[in-house]
Amino acid sequence: TSSKQQQLIQLHEKAAEVYHHMLVNTAIGEAALDYLHKRGLNDQLIEEFNIGFAPNQRDFLVRVFQNEALDSNIFPESGLFVERENKELVDRFYQRIMFPIRNFQGKTVGFSGRFFATEDFDDQDQPKYLNSPETTLFNKREILFNFDKARSGIRKSGTVYLFEGFMDVLAAYRTGVTNGIASMGTSLTNEQITAISRVAQELVLCYDGDQAGIAATDRAIGHLQESSGIDLSVVSVPENLDPDEYVKKYGQEPFVKLLEHGKETVFSFKMHYRRMNKNMSNEKEQVEYVQELLHDLLNVDSLIEQDRYLTQLSTEFQISRETLQQQLRDLKRQRR
Ligand code: ATP
Ligand code: MN
Ligand code: MN
Ligand code: MN
Repeated sequence: TSSKQQQLIQLHEKAAEVYHHMLVNTAIGEAALDYLHKRGLNDQLIEEFNIGFAPNQRDFLVRVFQNEALDSNIFPESGLFVERENKELVDRFYQRIMFPIRNFQGKTVGFSGRFFATEDFDDQDQPKYLNSPETTLFNKREILFNFDKARSGIRKSGTVYLFEGFMDVLAAYRTGVTNGIASMGTSLTNEQITAISRVAQELVLCYDGDQAGIAATDRAIGHLQESSGIDLSVVSVPENLDPDEYVKKYGQEPFVKLLEHGKETVFSFKMHYRRMNKNMSNEKEQVEYVQELLHDLLNVDSLIEQDRYLTQLSTEFQISRETLQQQLRDLKRQRR
C-alpha cells in the first residue's frame, strides 16, 4: 500500500475512534447506545466492532481532523466528506450510528451509517443506511462485511454463512456463529465469490425471509452456480423475518438450530420458490413449473439427488419417470 493509501486508512481509523468515543462515552451518543442495547448488541460486541455515532453536526469530523493537524489535501478523496457548492467540505455522515467496514486485512476503509431518528431530528427523507462512496480504498465490488474476522473460522469449519445485512451478521455473531459475512447491500460480484471460494467449501445462504430476500436468494444462487464450484445450501427464515429479527423473537439457541437443521438443498429451495409465483391449480402453470424445475435439475450434480427429485415430480404430477428423464436428457443436449 502506498503512503497515500496509508494516510487514507489513518483517516478512517481516526474517524472510527472518535465516532466510537461519541457513542460510548458522551451524552450525545446515549440514546443511540440505548437503542443498540435494546437491539441486543452488548458492550463487548460494540467494542469488538468499534461501532460509533456521528452527531448531528456537519462540521464534527472536519473539526476533529483540523485539530489533529491531518493533511487536508486528502480529505476530499476519503469519502468521509461532501463538497458544498462553495467548495467547503462538510461531514458526509451525521445523526447516524456508524459501522466501520474493514477490508480483508482488518483495516477500516469505509463506513455504513444507520440513520438514527430522535425527537429533534426525525427526517423521513433520510435513507436508512448511507454507505461510503466508492474510493481508492473502498471498493464495493470486493468488500465483504466481517470477512477479516470470519476467515479463520471459515477455513476451519469449511463453511461460510452469507447474510443480507450486517445487522444479521452481528446477530449471528453473538449467537456464536462467527463465520458469517454480508455484501454491502448489493448483489454478489465475481470478485466476492472468488474471495469466498478460496477459503470455503460450503456456502449457506441465509437472507431475509421477506419477498425481497427470497428473490435475492434466487439471484445469488444464479451467480454462485455460474462462477464457483462451491457447495451451496439455503436456510429460509420463517415468518418473513430476517435473521436478526428471528434471534430477537425466538432467542439464540433456536437460531443456531435453524442454521443447523433448517438447511435445504438449492433444488428444494427452487421447488418452493417457483411455486410461490404460480397458480398451481392451473394446469398450464403446473406444466411450466415442471419444465422450469427440469432446467434447475440440470444444475444438480449428484445422481442420487436427481433421482429422488425425478421421483418426487413424477409422483406429484403423475408424469412417468421415463418422460421426465427423456426431457432432462434433451435439455442436457440443448445446453451443450
Ligand atoms: P435493520 O435491521 O437495521 O433495519 P437490515 O439489515 O435488516 O437493517 P435491510 O433493509 O434488510 O436492513 O437491508 C439489508 C442491507 O441492505 C443492509 O444491511 C444494507 O447494507 C443495505 N441497505 C438497506 N437499505 C439501504 C439504503 N437505503 N441504502 C444503502 N444500503 C441499504
Ligand atoms: Mn431485507
Ligand atoms: Mn433485513
Ligand atoms: Mn433487520
